[in-house]
Amino acid sequence: MKIVLASGNKGKIKEFEKLMPNDDVVAFKEILGNIEIIEDQNSFKGNAIKKAQTIYDNLIKKGYKDVIVISDDSGITVPELNNEPGIYSARYAGENSSDKQNNAKLIENLNKKNIEKTEAYYTACIAIIYKDEIYTVHGWMHGNVINKELGEGGFGYDPMFIANGFDKTLGELGYEAKKEFSHRTKALNLAKKVLDVVI
Ligand code: IMP
Repeated sequence: MKIVLASGNKGKIKEFEKLMPNDDVVAFKEILGNIEIIEDQNSFKGNAIKKAQTIYDNLIKKGYKDVIVISDDSGITVPELNNEPGIYSARYAGENSSDKQNNAKLIENLNKKNIEKTEAYYTACIAIIYKDEIYTVHGWMHGNVINKELGEGGFGYDPMFIANGFDKTLGELGYEAKKEFSHRTKALNLAKKVLDVVI
């Protein structure tokens, strides 16, 4: 059965493809082209549902049946920075900002408070829609964020994030290590269990 990813984020798409090697996973753009989804909800869950529902509705309009849509809304939360950037992670430095610009903004805000290293965590909410029913699951990864970028691996804030139990950033460790314990892996493992039950 076809699983359509309701995400345009290249880093996430790459991770999903690697996490679901035996499934027929396709990014929505390959079927529907560009669709702008305004992420205006006040939680990861609200935004994940909005993304999945928008893509699901468009696929049904196009005649797709029995399709599974999976979305992911995720981000990094830094309690010492009033829980920023949280649900605004993708646009921390402004609309359409790049990972580099968002990381620079986070470094700037850490430096303003003289913070070199502080507790942080990633959240991923995955929404699944199948046969008009919506299911949501969450995964978290806890650790620390630092005021510099180290390593080239992963995407987004990974070069600034050191997961608990490690002394290197996710940028230095690379994806093979990250996939063992990431927020997205944990959420997707739960999502697979949901799919086992409902399909
Ligand atoms: P979304 O696509 O609106 O959910 O935005 C997610 C944003 O959160 C991304 O653009 C990244 O900045 C950040 N993010 C989420 N998951 C990860 C991750 O696994 N590594 C690094 N950054 C992440």
